[in-house]
Amino acid sequence: MQQLILPALLASCWTLCTEAGDWCYQTQFSLDHPCNVPEKWNLANSRCDGRSQSPINIVTRKTLKDKRLTPFKFDNYQQIFTGMIKNNGHSVQAGVPHLSTVSGGGLPTSYKAVQFHLHWGNNGGPGSEHTIDGEQYPMELHIVHMKQQYTDLTTALSDQEGVAVLGFFYEKSNSANRKYEPIINALRSIRNAKDNTSLIAISLAQLIPAEQNLTSYYRYKGSLTTPGCNEAVIWTLFESPIPLSMEQLRAFSELKFHDGKSMVGTFRPVQPLNGRQVSWSGGAVILASSFLLMAAIATALGLSQPN
Ligand SMILES: [Zn+2]
Repeated sequence: MQQLILPALLASCWTLCTEAGDWCYQTQFSLDHPCNVPEKWNLANSRCDGRSQSPINIVTRKTLKDKRLTPFKFDNYQQIFTGMIKNNGHSVQAGVPHLSTVSGGGLPTSYKAVQFHLHWGNNGGPGSEHTIDGEQYPMELHIVHMKQQYTDLTTALSDQEGVAVLGFFYEKSNSANRKYEPIINALRSIRNAKDNTSLIAISLAQLIPAEQNLTSYYRYKGSLTTPGCNEAVIWTLFESPIPLSMEQLRAFSELKFHDGKSMVGTFRPVQPLNGRQVSWSGGAVILASSFLLMAAIATALGLSQPN
């Protein structure tokens, strides 16, 4: 009897164990190496079948303007740091010292930066996770923060508002974005899964648009966009995109998944909203610039007295 039990146990573990851990993006699937594609992530973790999943498509005419979505306060975002950047088999991820924090922006408390990573398409093709009115951008940056009080992400993920992710879209530009050179250059050293290298002298501020362009954003409650899909994330998607040249965008497609296949299409398809409301901070960028314009005109006309 025992002779029968062991193989049976092994067989069930084989099924369960491969189903549990082996999640992949659609681009990674092959018959030689079957893995759980996004539609089957619920087999990797049942939370991926939840009612508040991410990413989503943001339908701008259905968003609700919310005055509580004030500008963010970025602390130590200018701080230069040296971090490790790695190819984790699903993405490029860099650790951030917990010194950079974010508050305001309608967040319930202060959150500290933990890591950032990216999602992209194939050679600069559509690759963002969130979409705006159905438009998919070439890439999306996620700066992951957790509540100041926590010391590890696992604990933060058990709190419904434990994690705040700041999401940024990229757009193709004609010239290279020099502020991204440290990252683009590091990609050559992390071609294969599990490779890592040090990222020298960068700041979070240099990776994102100038602060005055970050007052217009969308907000909703969702999840991690990879298994375990924990519904613990306050999402912020900024309207203002980050420019990268085609060559810079293409550099990400040179990376490899575990199986040596090109690391492309590293995004989860959009998930049902299930009645969730997406809020919008309003077009404060335009208001601020028109205020400056008015002030400039007033100054030019001698209506105010600059000192
Ligand atoms: Zn992400």
